[in-house]
Amino acid sequence: MIPEMFQAKGTFWRGNIHTHSDRSDGVLTPEEVCRRYQAEGYDFLALTDHFVGLFNYPITDTTPYRNDQFTTILGAELHSGAMQNGELWHILAVGLPPEFETSNSPHFLPIENQETAEEIAKRARDAGAFVAIAHPQWSGMTLKDARSIGSAHAVEIYNHGCAVACDRPDGTAILDLLLTEGRQLTAIATDDAHFTEPDHFGGWVMVKAQKNEPEALLQALKNSHFYSSEGPEIHHIELYKNQISIRSSAVSTVIVQAKGSATAAVHGASMTQTKVKLGRASQSEWIRVTLKDAAGRRAWSNPIWRK
Ligand SMILES: [Zn+2]
Ligand SMILES: [Zn+2]
Repeated sequence: MIPEMFQAKGTFWRGNIHTHSDRSDGVLTPEEVCRRYQAEGYDFLALTDHFVGLFNYPITDTTPYRNDQFTTILGAELHSGAMQNGELWHILAVGLPPEFETSNSPHFLPIENQETAEEIAKRARDAGAFVAIAHPQWSGMTLKDARSIGSAHAVEIYNHGCAVACDRPDGTAILDLLLTEGRQLTAIATDDAHFTEPDHFGGWVMVKAQKNEPEALLQALKNSHFYSSEGPEIHHIELYKNQISIRSSAVSTVIVQAKGSATAAVHGASMTQTKVKLGRASQSEWIRVTLKDAAGRRAWSNPIWRK
C-alpha cells in the first residue's frame, strides 16, 4: 500500500503554519516575518497571531506579501475555554476567513461564558480551517483534554519554539494514544516563532500540491498530503504486510511507531532506501515513521492506516 500523497500529482512546498508577528506577541512586523521566511527558502507561511481581545482579535492580513515565489495562508491561534489544569486552550487554525467571528477571549486567562475549545475549533473547521491541537506537552495537556477536540485535523508533533524555550517540544505521546483510539489525526511540525529567541526555521511541513496557492495547500493539509521535518526529506513510502520501505534523503535511523509499545528501527549510514521489518507493528491499525539524519534532525510521516 502506498499512501495517497505519494501517488498524487504535485510538488512538495515547504511551509511554516504556526507563527506570530507584532500584531500579537511576536516582535517583527508581518512584512518582515514573511520576508525572512521567504529568504530562508520557504514557499509559504501562515501567520497565526493570538486571537484574543488584548490584541484586538487579529487575523493578520499577509496577502500583500505574496509574490510569484511565495504565498501565505490566513490563520490565527485561537483561545477559548479551560484545560483540565485551569489554563487557557491554544488551538491552531490555518485557513480562516478574514471575517471569522471573534470569541469572548479578552486575554490569556479562561473566563466564564466563553466557548469551549471544541466549540471554537468546530467553528474554525466549519469556516474552512485546518485545525490543530497546539503544543500538547508545553500546555501540560491531558489525554482527556486532547480527546475533547473532536474537530481537530492534526496534533503538533513538534513545536520548535517550545523546544528552544523549555525543552517541551513533543506531541507524540498524545498523538499516538489518540491514534490508538481510532482518531485519524495527522502530525504537523511548526516553529511557533515569535522571533524573541532562536525559535524560527526549526520545524516545518512539506505539503504536496499542484500549485503553491493557498487553497491548494489548505486542501492538501486536510487530505494528509504532507509530512513534517526538521531537515530530512521523505520521497516515498510503501507499506507491505510485514515490512515498510522508505526512500528519503540520506538518514542514519528509520523508526516505525505503532500501537502500544510496538516499534521497530533500522540504523545505518547515509541510508536513502530503507526497509524496516515491522514485527509486532504489523498488527497495528496505524503506523508512522520517523527518520533521523546524522545531525539528529528528524522527519515525521503522517500516520498510515491499514484500512
Ligand atoms: Zn500557543
Ligand atoms: Zn503560538
